[in-house]
Amino acid sequence: ARSFARRLEGLPAPATIEMARRARALRAEGKPVISLALGEPDFPTPPAVVEAAHAAALAGQTKYPPVDGTPALKAAIARKFVRENGLEYAPDEIMVSNGGKQVIFNAFMATLNPGDEVVVPAPYWVSYPLIARMFGGVPVTVLCREEDGFKLKAEALAAALTPKSRWLVLNFPNNPTGAVMTAQELEAIAEIVRQYPDLWVLSDEIYEHLVFDGVRSASLAAVAPDLKDRIITLNGVSKAYAMTGWRVGFAGGPKDLIAAMRGVQGNATSGICTIAQAAAAAALDGPADLVQEMATTYGRRRQMVVDALRRIPGLTCAMPEGAFYAYPGVAGCLGRTSAGGARLETDHDFALALLEEEYVAAVPGSAFGQSPYLRLSCATSDADLMEACQRLERFVSNLR
Ligand code: PLP
Repeated sequence: ARSFARRLEGLPAPATIEMARRARALRAEGKPVISLALGEPDFPTPPAVVEAAHAAALAGQTKYPPVDGTPALKAAIARKFVRENGLEYAPDEIMVSNGGKQVIFNAFMATLNPGDEVVVPAPYWVSYPLIARMFGGVPVTVLCREEDGFKLKAEALAAALTPKSRWLVLNFPNNPTGAVMTAQELEAIAEIVRQYPDLWVLSDEIYEHLVFDGVRSASLAAVAPDLKDRIITLNGVSKAYAMTGWRVGFAGGPKDLIAAMRGVQGNATSGICTIAQAAAAAALDGPADLVQEMATTYGRRRQMVVDALRRIPGLTCAMPEGAFYAYPGVAGCLGRTSAGGARLETDHDFALALLEEEYVAAVPGSAFGQSPYLRLSCATSDADLMEACQRLERFVSNLR
């Protein structure tokens, strides 16, 4: 048999990608699939951003860029951190990567030794524990309970930390729950982090602009400046500017860790596509009202979807404060059987049967480390969202 590296043993494909793949296969058979599985804005990239890419390409910005980012984009990122987060980062404290995902990959590869623990509050974005495991890291989950608004509680964090903890991952606004942490709530977390001087913190703020009802998302490094030299502040243009395909993410952090991450990236991908970097700079320096408009739309759809879900007996749904997902609980449907004869023991069974029988693709909570839930992306048209809710209602009302 052919052999592969031990680091890949037992590493599953992210369930998000797996559900999207099944949805595509059904669609290829001609089934009327509505996919709410992927976290991808349905808006086009703003035209002025596309123009900036076009202009950069015509102006000859087509050569190898510096590994850590073009000076122009790094300057735009520095301005963004000051303007939006009150954070000062020097050029050698900023790094551009191939999406926020590569920031995480670089940071973990640069710091983890086998057996190091990576504390990941659940529900979590699927990639944190999977990337940690690629480098021998041991994910340790801390439950963010629905009755706590899916927020991370200081006591729960304190109970999970050990001398082996290398990283704490924070992601607020959260994928998948939409929970947001206020400055005051983050201060309580910072107090615990202070007791563990060898702990790095990854603060993934990629959904920071997608918040609703006047809620504000705080930046950990701004709330706890004394911890700034242990924090990687992760952000990117994918979600806020509808630029998932451009693959630009970035990090602000301490010079030594950024240098180590640059070392990793220099041996992997080198610098990021110059044209995409020009586009990202234009996005960050562009008008804020575009982002606001998209956020308002996501907020309205979220309300619509949550209202519809709450009318379905057997489902419950908390109101997300940010990001663009709904995270309904399906506990009331487990132990029952679908019209198509599938026995629903878990949220995974629920998601599979919903896809096979009603052609609605969603991701089970098990993928995010907290069950039984379902993540529905609201970054799709009103019509598709309403149709998906109707099919969900039919699916649930047909359960025996
Ligand atoms: N962080 C979170 C919480 C995400 O949901 C995603 C994308 O799904 C990312 C980071 C990475 O996005 P990208 O690699 O497109 O910048």
